[in-house]
Amino acid sequence: MAKIGFIGLGNMGLPMALNLVKAGHQVSGLDMNAASVGKLRESGGAAAADVKRAAEDSEVIVTMLPSGKEVREVYLGPAGIVASAKPGTLLIDSSTIDVETAREVAKAAQDKGLLMVDAPVSGGVGGAQAGTLTFMVGGSDEAFARAKPFLEAMGKTIVHAGGAGNGQAAKICNNMILGISMIAVSEAFVLAEKLGLDAQKLFDISSKSSGQCWSLTTYCPVPGPVPTSPANRDYQAGFTAAMMLKDLKLAQDAAKSTKAATPLGADAAAIYERYVQSGEAGRDFSGIIRYLRAQ
Ligand code: NAD
Repeated sequence: MAKIGFIGLGNMGLPMALNLVKAGHQVSGLDMNAASVGKLRESGGAAAADVKRAAEDSEVIVTMLPSGKEVREVYLGPAGIVASAKPGTLLIDSSTIDVETAREVAKAAQDKGLLMVDAPVSGGVGGAQAGTLTFMVGGSDEAFARAKPFLEAMGKTIVHAGGAGNGQAAKICNNMILGISMIAVSEAFVLAEKLGLDAQKLFDISSKSSGQCWSLTTYCPVPGPVPTSPANRDYQAGFTAAMMLKDLKLAQDAAKSTKAATPLGADAAAIYERYVQSGEAGRDFSGIIRYLRAQ
């Protein structure tokens, strides 16, 4: 069993760290929020003193941080992970961040003889708790092979997407599909309302027709057809509109830097920006239907 340092014990990180404890690993956690570290300790983990100590004392480091800014600080700072970890330490960053930062950090790690993967996730807090996350992994074959057993303790589907940064590339492409498709499904329900077509009828037909997609059949934005979707609980998140906007902006940054044409991705980012600015940042992203209905 391995000595693991886990940095970033938020909504996702804490349940992921707890699954590593359950798998028998020695997990030392670090977060600016002492209560989260307390919860890890209550469940058999330990508290790490700081990033430097966590890096020096661990065979594996997992990070689950809000954005590229925190990832840069924690990995590349003067007392950060890259400066402090022993050669051969395995680094797993599961935060959702920009591809450029992921590749820069992986290069710095490689130059120090460290093995690194970017391994962002899909599956939300429920998936983190149940240990059923999907990991999209970027890194060398060697780094992937070493990371896989640890990822399997936290997830169900582990896909090697290619070299460094490709996990993040897969994540932002997937979430661009999701953002666009949620708006498309919501627009269809709003139009159906105007046309006098019952929402359940549209669901029954489209869920078995060519309009079928995850945003419709798993996360339906109107209450009723899919009882587990956030629409049935006043669009409580789930996956917040602010997080969707973050991912759509990452996709747009990547599209600009690679000159990829993503006109619907750009529109989706602009629509979610207006939704977030309307005071709904913390609402589930499927609540976009209410915003569209009010236009
Ligand atoms: P969160 O804000 O709940 O957790 C982030 C944690 O990092 C916080 O507890 C914060 O205190 C801690 N932190 C920030 N800077 C730190 C530092 N310098 N040192 C130590 N701790 C620090 O966010 P989350 O929902 O857990 O998401 C984490 C990442 O996972 C994000 O990149 C997000 O986009 C991604 N993600 C989230 C979901 C979801 O449904 N919540 C789903 C998929 C991916």
